[in-house]
Amino acid sequence: MEQQINLLAQLAAVDAQLDELHDELGDLPQDVKKLEVALREKVTALEVTQKSIEELNHLRGTAHVTIQESLDKEQRLAQQQFQVKNNREFDAITREIEHLKTQRTEIEERLRTSGVREENLKTTLAQQEQEVATVREKLTEKASELEERSGGQNDELKKYIDVRLRLSGQIDDALEAEYERIRTFHNNAAVAIKRNSCSGCYSAIPSQRIMEMKYQRDKVYTCEGCGRILFTEDVEADIDTLMAGA
Ligand SMILES: [Zn+2]
Repeated sequence: MEQQINLLAQLAAVDAQLDELHDELGDLPQDVKKLEVALREKVTALEVTQKSIEELNHLRGTAHVTIQESLDKEQRLAQQQFQVKNNREFDAITREIEHLKTQRTEIEERLRTSGVREENLKTTLAQQEQEVATVREKLTEKASELEERSGGQNDELKKYIDVRLRLSGQIDDALEAEYERIRTFHNNAAVAIKRNSCSGCYSAIPSQRIMEMKYQRDKVYTCEGCGRILFTEDVEADIDTLMAGA
């Protein structure tokens, strides 16, 4: 059974490789995500404009018939008004006729302004189409750049992740949690002591402590300067050896 500190040193070596691979991609993954969101928003806006134009065309296509139907209905109502039995019925028909007139005025008003409205909508649509094309082009560019860069990484990445999973399963949960906690501050959360110093912050480590560490392999030591987990240099894992054994 390997010592916990050895396993942790191996985990740190693997994480260093994973961080490096991640850094190679830079901001590309976030850029691609942002562009995808932007594209969806632009396409939605464009669809709203297209729908308005369709509605406008529908109005123009059907207004004539709608108005004629309304006029016919009004005529029928006007005839009915001669046959009412009381004032209440008479008033009800009057209100219905007024309602039809108001509806017609609205349709006529919309028809009258439809030319200007169509012009505005078409200008908006042209701008939106341009914007969609621009964002789509940028997205294609960034996405293929990302694919190109990460494509070469996939096999490597998979190997590191496999090793990482194996190590993670062998490390005590509490120790790994502590390591992960430190990693939120320092990418290299567990470091070797080199030339009697912490290789994370270069604070000097008393030789007495280093001696102690070599005899107490099961105890976890942290740097008083930076809080990183420390291990002696002989514990440091060589990534190539580690991966060769994977
Ligand atoms: Zn330190």
